[in-house]
Amino acid sequence: MQYSSTRGGIAPVGFAEAVLMGLATDGGLLVPTDLPCVDAATLRAWSGLGFQDLALEVMTPFVGDEIPREDLRALIERSYATFAHPAVTPLVEVGDLRILELFHGPTAAFKDVALQFLGNLFEYLLARDGGELNICGATSGDTGSAAIYGVRGKARISIFMLHPKGRISPIQERQMTSVLDANVHNIAVKGSFDDAQRIVKELFNDLPFKSEFSLGAVNSINWARILAQMVYYVFAWARCSAGDPQRRVSFAVPTGNFGDVFAGYLAKRMGVPIDRLIVATNRNDILTRFVDTGVYSVGDVYQTLSPAMDIQIASNFERYLYFLHDGDAGKVRSLLETLQSTGRLEVDAAHHARARADFDAVAVSDAETLEQIRQTYAAADYILCPHTAVGVKAGGALEDLVCLATAHPAKFNEAIQLAIGRDAPLPPALQGLMDLPTRCLELDAGAEPLKAHIRETLKDGG
Ligand SMILES: *Cc1c(COP(=O)(O)O)cnc(C)c1O
Repeated sequence: MQYSSTRGGIAPVGFAEAVLMGLATDGGLLVPTDLPCVDAATLRAWSGLGFQDLALEVMTPFVGDEIPREDLRALIERSYATFAHPAVTPLVEVGDLRILELFHGPTAAFKDVALQFLGNLFEYLLARDGGELNICGATSGDTGSAAIYGVRGKARISIFMLHPKGRISPIQERQMTSVLDANVHNIAVKGSFDDAQRIVKELFNDLPFKSEFSLGAVNSINWARILAQMVYYVFAWARCSAGDPQRRVSFAVPTGNFGDVFAGYLAKRMGVPIDRLIVATNRNDILTRFVDTGVYSVGDVYQTLSPAMDIQIASNFERYLYFLHDGDAGKVRSLLETLQSTGRLEVDAAHHARARADFDAVAVSDAETLEQIRQTYAAADYILCPHTAVGVKAGGALEDLVCLATAHPAKFNEAIQLAIGRDAPLPPALQGLMDLPTRCLELDAGAEPLKAHIRETLKDGG
């Protein structure tokens, strides 16, 4: 399988290069040049497989012959052995709802599904092809801990993760700082999340520094993350349809950076019998407005009870624009240039009609989110995390619907307290966390202190 850039500025690359490149060198995102087709016989054969075996089948055409099948199998096995449920992503019946629980990984959020795999994949490719990778990022919550758990203890990889000191939830801070592996470096920046993000950007813009220290990122634009997330759409379809290719299933997807629901879109384009894909957003509704109007326009970011979805620009949206325009990279480039210079882009009527056929979109307020948590708890004695509640509310009473549960409710206990006046019980992954020893360095909010720290740490062979 070959990969090209959504902006058309690079010669096609293979799978390994696409994964290690992250962002394409022309500023675009990497996309497969063609999609495999899944026919009825394949769907029937896949429907009996467990999560890991299914992952191997779904991923194989995208990986091609770059990784021997047995090696890929071992990578997948290792990645999902860290999940606390034997089904990895179990589909559970909750009253009238069907919920796909994606939060049984080590940090209790769905990002583990992709980042456990990505960490092992990085380690494998670096061991095979040589080189090292020093991941650097800033986090305000879920991504940081999932990334740290993805690479802890891995050879040839270090991670430097910045968070704004005292400004993330205590549980999320502990999840990161209690990881004591020598290759994990937590940094509490004396400043805001924006300060932390600006510092990381500055580092990446210092090209000599970036190349001397092999800096890389694990943000949501990495192709391997999309790939890993396609698997559970097929898995859920198979559980609901008993392998009957005539049976179609819809999905309600709590959406921020558009990575999760984009994986569902690709699965549908490959022939997986998916009916509706519901883009569920909170008050940060840029994607809902796009589906409604065909205009994608940047607004303010609001803080909500579902913070992992508080985004202004959905980084994977560019991939969708590319597929919406049938791979016309010139068109994507010009739309994005318009977005860059004016803060808005608009697709023509025909493409808007296609977008409406591809997605339903619903924005859900905080009040509705709390009400949904309350209702589901009263009806079925089940506690939804606020992100999941946004999806459930957006899905409404649609038939043959699967709601993706993107985090364990205990990670967002303040919202749970507000909704139902009690605590969400802690899952095993979060038990005892607050008593663990921690390691974390405090730094002033500037690029120079961070550069000095990285230089010193890596020179020591850390
Ligand atoms: C990241 C995240 C989302 C949003 O997923 P995207 O792929 O960015 O759309 C939703 N819920 C939770 C809990 C998350 O951590």
